Amino acid sequence: MVGLMAAAKIRLCVDQPLGPGQSVPLSVAQAHYLFGVMRTGEGSAVLVFNGRDGEWLAEVSEAGRGRGALACRRRVRPQVAGPDLWLLFAPVKKARTDFIVEKAVELGVARILPVLTERTNSERFRRDKAEAHVREAAEQCGALCLPEVAEAAPLDRVLAGWDPSRHILWADEAEAGAAVTLAALPDGPGAVLVGPEGGFSGVERARLGTLPFVHAVALGPRILRAETAALAALTLWQAARGDWR
Ligand code: SAM
Repeated sequence: MVGLMAAAKIRLCVDQPLGPGQSVPLSVAQAHYLFGVMRTGEGSAVLVFNGRDGEWLAEVSEAGRGRGALACRRRVRPQVAGPDLWLLFAPVKKARTDFIVEKAVELGVARILPVLTERTNSERFRRDKAEAHVREAAEQCGALCLPEVAEAAPLDRVLAGWDPSRHILWADEAEAGAAVTLAALPDGPGAVLVGPEGGFSGVERARLGTLPFVHAVALGPRILRAETAALAALTLWQAARGDWR
């Protein structure tokens, strides 16, 4: 079993429940990846997780063309809750949106909410594609949790239904150059809000400025691209209130 564990380099995100002896059928894509790309076969070790049952050491029990199965051997990491951090961002161009989704997973975000602002100027947000990126990023970075991806929704509607106990760190470009002060940001559930390439409109800024659960923050003296701002704001939150402490 120790040898099997040492050999397990491949990490797969699956949908099925995981438990001792549990058989996990592979999708066509997973079978192609394991047997066609990674050249594994029966008896090969694989790590599997599903976002609910921790991480399991599994063994290929059946390997065929476009099909196959794994057998769970033992749990190697229990499921643990990640930080209660959400990311609200205005979708940008496709490759940059994909980047934001990937980095959100690596940085431990629990929920990804695309928000449509007055100046959001992007192609349609594809939730199914974003979910696939979430799984890939989680496989690669060792995450046990899979952030939920929400459908894109207008920012004002999202704010209207917001639970005020979840405090939002608002990356506000108008604050650029001000010193970063997170002292007023309470502990507990949080979110980061980043605007589109064109920034927030005056109306949006005025509204955000009146909400007691929104905290404006500057991300240094330069204007960052939206994807850099998302990364920087998530890093700040993780260092100050999250699991980097
Ligand atoms: N067109 C806007 C301007 O020139 O002011 C810039 C928008 S910026 C490309 C996209 C988003 O990144 C902003 O809405 C904001 O959320 C965030 N951002 C960029 N630089 C920032 C900074 N220095 N401080 C705070 N937020 C920043």
